[in-house]
Amino acid sequence: MSGKFKAIIAGGGFGGLTAATALAQRGWSVTIYERQPELRAAGAGIYIWENGLRILDAIGANVVTPDSFRGLAMEQRGYDDGVLDVGDFPPSVRLITVTRKDLLAGLRAAAQKAGVDIRTSSEVIGAGADGDLHFTGAHIEKADLAIGADGVWSAVRRSLGLELFHQQTDEGALRTIIPGTPEDLGPDGQDKYIECWSGKRRFLITPLNDREIYLALTCQKTDLAAKKSPLDKESWKASFPRWTHLIDRTDQMLPWAPYSIVKVRSWSAGRTAIIGDAAHAQPPNLGQGGGMAMQSALALAVHLEGITDRRDIPDRLAIWEEKERPLAEHCQRWSCLYGEVSTLPDSMRAKVLTNAMADNWIRGEFLRAARSIPTGTGA
Ligand SMILES: Cc1cc2nc3c(=O)[nH]c(=O)nc-3n(C[C@H](O)[C@H](O)[C@H](O)COP(=O)(O)OP(=O)(O)OC[C@H]3O[C@@H](n4cnc5c(N)ncnc54)[C@H](O)[C@@H]3O)c2cc1C
Repeated sequence: MSGKFKAIIAGGGFGGLTAATALAQRGWSVTIYERQPELRAAGAGIYIWENGLRILDAIGANVVTPDSFRGLAMEQRGYDDGVLDVGDFPPSVRLITVTRKDLLAGLRAAAQKAGVDIRTSSEVIGAGADGDLHFTGAHIEKADLAIGADGVWSAVRRSLGLELFHQQTDEGALRTIIPGTPEDLGPDGQDKYIECWSGKRRFLITPLNDREIYLALTCQKTDLAAKKSPLDKESWKASFPRWTHLIDRTDQMLPWAPYSIVKVRSWSAGRTAIIGDAAHAQPPNLGQGGGMAMQSALALAVHLEGITDRRDIPDRLAIWEEKERPLAEHCQRWSCLYGEVSTLPDSMRAKVLTNAMADNWIRGEFLRAARSIPTGTGA
């Protein structure tokens, strides 16, 4: 019976909230320490693939509404707006897009319903391997299990000495949500997401619902005109003239930021684990960073089911990592690989994308995580 066990979690993002809810639903007493004054998701929109949708169902998080956009394809277009790949998804693989705010709200509501104690304005500055989290003023909280779900700059990861490297990419994105409807993508753009390439710039168009479109504008760190905040609209319109009507609607943008790639020695030390970006941050090219954070979080709770002695926790964590890590790192690897395509000249990229995406094996590798059955979600 695990009712006596206590877990403390650094970070109330997608990974932390999923782990907290899944543990609380299995009888654990759980407290989240979040450094922001309120739970808040940085960013604009987010893609949730089939695997993520299964996890939300399993923990009872209501995020998807009839209003949420379900795209049936991710179409790739070249600099001349010609289609490079139609990018249809197999019918068994759903992809839904929502605002990050809505995803966080659904996860928070599920956590609160499960009885998770959420403490805000609580910054964790370190951790130990005995299930302990450290705060300013030499204050320490101890539990049977501690989890670092504290994102790319994880203090828990670093203080446990788990970090192998944390690299930032040369490519990065500006993001925003504009008013708009799926019709704004044109008569040939319905029911899909569209990613356009022009030089080393990318323009990703993601309807979220009948009122909002999420835009991600991607470029290299050396492209000073493209990175500018406020947005240099003329420069982006010159690269993507077909989408002038959307670029004109941009207002407040989240400033350009690179992506993080994190590699670690291990996902745990003693009775302290790390999950999500803290353990396997990756560029967003597969749209699976958040999915993998939720996947490893739910799996963690499942792997601890039935323990009767906290001395068994380190062994259970080792089994959890052995089972879950390969898929998270597969996504990381393929996401990095896809990022390399952005540095190719247009004509070469067109060839690479068209040929690669026509290959069933490559397509299967891109969709491996989406097609997986996450631990704890049943067959
Ligand atoms: C441009 C971009 C687009 C993306 N698009 C997608 C997508 O479409 N689909 C997808 O699945 N993923 C996507 N991702 C990845 C996804 O955002 C992350 O993988 C996901 O947010 C990781 O969740 P997390 O809970 O591990 O970390 P985070 O979401 O970063 O949450 C960490 C939490 O910990 C808190 N925290 C940090 N430090 C401390 C501390 N010291 N003490 C206490 N609290 C702390 C933070 O305030 C935050 O609330 C994208 C990423 C980027 C950069």
